[in-house]
Amino acid sequence: MTSDDATPPAAPVSWPADKVAAAALTFDVDAESAFLSADPSSAARLTVMSHQAYGPLTGVPRILRLLERHRLRGTFFVPGFTAERYPLVVEQIVEGGHEVAHHGYLHESSVGMDRDTEERAIDRGLQALDKVAGVRPVGYRAPMWELNYRTPSLLLDRGFLYDSSMMDCDVPYLLAEHAETAARSIVEIPVNWALDDWEQYAYVPGLAASGPIESPAKVLEMWTLELDAFYRERCCFVLTNHPFLTGRPSRMAALERLVERMEALDGLWLATLAEIAAHTRAMGPVPRAFPAPPVGRTE
Ligand SMILES: [Zn+2]
Repeated sequence: MTSDDATPPAAPVSWPADKVAAAALTFDVDAESAFLSADPSSAARLTVMSHQAYGPLTGVPRILRLLERHRLRGTFFVPGFTAERYPLVVEQIVEGGHEVAHHGYLHESSVGMDRDTEERAIDRGLQALDKVAGVRPVGYRAPMWELNYRTPSLLLDRGFLYDSSMMDCDVPYLLAEHAETAARSIVEIPVNWALDDWEQYAYVPGLAASGPIESPAKVLEMWTLELDAFYRERCCFVLTNHPFLTGRPSRMAALERLVERMEALDGLWLATLAEIAAHTRAMGPVPRAFPAPPVGRTE
């Protein structure tokens, strides 16, 4: 690739009237699926499975109460396996008026996955959400945030409005199969690992032993700095939390402080990702072409 055909930066987003920036609270309800796909033998570890079950059983209800207290709506990415195992939890999310979005079937990483296998995982996830909650999601988040170069096209084939897995920008933008036309295009709402609770709180021996468990006070400080900077630069702050991690009491207390900070920022649009995606598409931004690998080729 030469500098001439390098991807241009995304166009700035115009937020709705009276809004200066956007923020979304998103929750990845991985539960057991996160480890069952990474290491099927983890199914035999009751303590590990119970640690993951904390998400839907205890974390999600606590999160729903927080959102209710603040009259906010969140976006919940639910793997199909989680939906089938905890149908009542998914029903509670839907009844609360929140968005349910797609997060694979068994939280499969798509790294090295062939096209047929990837399509089957997406379709199985869709079928599960439909069967359990009658939901046809408009949003997709790749498990582990691992997209293939073909994934945006597979999502378009299935009518998705947006993806939220990429990391090359701080505002949403339009990604099109052909740069000259937005005919086949999908909204991308970028994320980043600094706004994910996994790197702060995940500790599961042999599976996610990433280091010492951080203090919620440190996490709140870090995310508040991020929030204030995103707000100043009129960007889109997308926070990713896992109910089995952030659903614990002291972490929820820190999250509530962050929510209060969000509410205090004048003109910050607190929205679901579906709302942010619909707004982005309605603004008709100039699309960017689907990315190609910097080296080598892929199908
Ligand atoms: Zn996940």
